[in-house]
This record gives sequence, structure tokens and C-alpha cells, in this order.
Amino acid sequence: MERILAGIRPTGKLHWGNYFGALQNWVQLQKKYECFFFVADWHSLTSEYADSSKIKNWTIEVLKDVLSAGVDPDKVVLFIQSHVPEHAELHLLLSMMAPLGWLERVPTYKEMRQELVDKDLNTYGFLGYPVLQSADILLYNANKVPVGEDQLPHLELTRELVRRVHFLTGKTIFVEPQPLLTKTPRVPGMDRRKMSKSFGNAIYLDDEPKEITAKAMQTLTDPARKLRSDPGNPDVCTVYDFHKLVSDEATLKWSDHGCRTAGIGCVECKQAMAKNAIEYFKKFREEKTKWDNKEAQLFEIAAEGSKRASKVARATLEKVREALGINY
Ligand code: SF4
Repeated sequence: MERILAGIRPTGKLHWGNYFGALQNWVQLQKKYECFFFVADWHSLTSEYADSSKIKNWTIEVLKDVLSAGVDPDKVVLFIQSHVPEHAELHLLLSMMAPLGWLERVPTYKEMRQELVDKDLNTYGFLGYPVLQSADILLYNANKVPVGEDQLPHLELTRELVRRVHFLTGKTIFVEPQPLLTKTPRVPGMDRRKMSKSFGNAIYLDDEPKEITAKAMQTLTDPARKLRSDPGNPDVCTVYDFHKLVSDEATLKWSDHGCRTAGIGCVECKQAMAKNAIEYFKKFREEKTKWDNKEAQLFEIAAEGSKRASKVARATLEKVREALGINY
């Protein structure tokens, strides 16, 4: 069985972008692959270092969200990154060999700096986060990493790093990970920018029905459709993008046709989308409530996963130390 590695940065509870962009896919992947899924709490520190007081709670929220979405800890290795310190050691060793220019040209480096404008990201840790990601992947010799098109350069850096380490040490240590390109939509936020907690435009997985309806009403529509009698264009409407995520074919047709012919108004279109979204995440909300006040149990699940992850990570690290001649 091929091995998959994927992680989520805990920076708060998860939103639709995280769900449709990653988590939904994790639930499917666990059926076909040996999966190592982790909460990337050290990655959160790269941007949240000035106030790390919330990282523990965010980690708990992410664990709850991952489990409530249907990831089964009996089928996958689910762990917390900082509980497997081998990630830090491999990061350090790889960083000795990672050329600076490679890191500076990673496109998501610039993108994240633009997104997190309220954070000072001029740090050594932030520049090096792709190396930490490489360590995450290589520790488990993952054959495949689920990525969207925009993350391909990250994985390419990992693959280049593998070749460089093998060239420098003269030893073959790592598996070169392949991308598992996922057909995941780029989920816009309510204001049509990328959905992000920092933009305040996110709909969360555990939003209550009332919040979902209120957010649907705030969501941007076709800006050219000013009057109820104006025909609109669903292709430029964020509400329609949301319909595509949560509504069935019949509703999509109803919305598309009604919009183009001015047969429906935006309010009823938004109400229909909200109704379907409430239904879509009903089971999730019920599952998440079951984890209320069960932190100890969540950490037990993560500890069990971390134990299983450590075993694999230690074996890989031993090979790296040996290849570098520092296994004394
Ligand atoms: S009718 Fe629906 S799809 Fe058309 S602009 Fe309004 S909200 Fe968007």
C-alpha cells in the first residue's frame, strides 16, 4: 500500500476552504492508502510566534474537526507534529543543505506574506518552513503527497532536496515523493478573496445554522446584477460557487437558469444555498458536539498516533545520521 503524508496548520477552527480543499479528500484517501495525517503545530508557530497562547486550543479544534469529518484514527496514523521531535532534527539537518535561493523563490512564501500582512514574517523560521515541510514528508518516506496545483513548487523543492542530499552523501535515503494532484476547488471567501481566517471572510465547519444563513446573506453576488429584474451571471457569483459545493444538480440548474433569466432573486438563491449548507454539515456538527469536554481523549488518540509515527521517523533519521557520519 502506498503511503500518503498530509498535514493541517492549526490557526483556528477549520473552514470550508480547509474542508473542500483538504479534509474531504483525507476521508477518501484513508480508504486507499496508508495515511499519516498530522496537526502541524510547529508550522503555526512560524506565523504565530509572537503570541502562541492559542496554539494548544487550535490544535484541539483541528483534532475535533478532523475526527468529526470522518478521519478514522484506527485506519490512519493521526498525530501532532511537535509530539514527534524527529521532525525538528531532520529539519535542522536538511537546512544545512538547503540553498537559500531555493527557499526565496517558493511562490507560497510570497503569497503567505501578502495574506498575513499583520504578522512580521521576516524570520529565519518562516523562510525555512518549506524545509520543515520537506522534513515532514521525508521522515515517513511518503510516496505521495496530496497537493493542489499551487503547492506543486513546494513539493518540487522537497524532491530537489532529496536529490541534493543523495548527491552530497552518496547514499540513497529517501523516497522521492510524487504529487497526488487533487481536483479541489479553490474556495473563495464571502468577499471573493481566498477564504481565510485572517481575511474575516470564512464560513466555519461548525457554524450554527443561524450563522450560515447570516453569512450567506453577506456573500458577494454578481456585482452587475443591481435590480431583481436584471439577469445575472452565476459564473462570477460567490453564492453560486458555494452552491457548487453544497447543492445538488437540480438546485444548480434552478439557480443557473433562474439567475440568467432573472426568474429568481438573489435573496431566495442565497436562502436555498444556506439551507443546503446547513444540511450538508449537519452530521459534522452533531459529531463535533460529541467531542465537547473530551480533551484528554483527543490527546490520547494523538499520543497513540505519535507513538506509531515516531517509530517510522526514528528509523529514517537513523539512516540520515549514518549517511552524514554523525551516528556516534
Ligand atoms: S441569483 Fe444567485 S447566482 Fe445569480 S447573482 Fe444572485 S445569488 Fe448569484
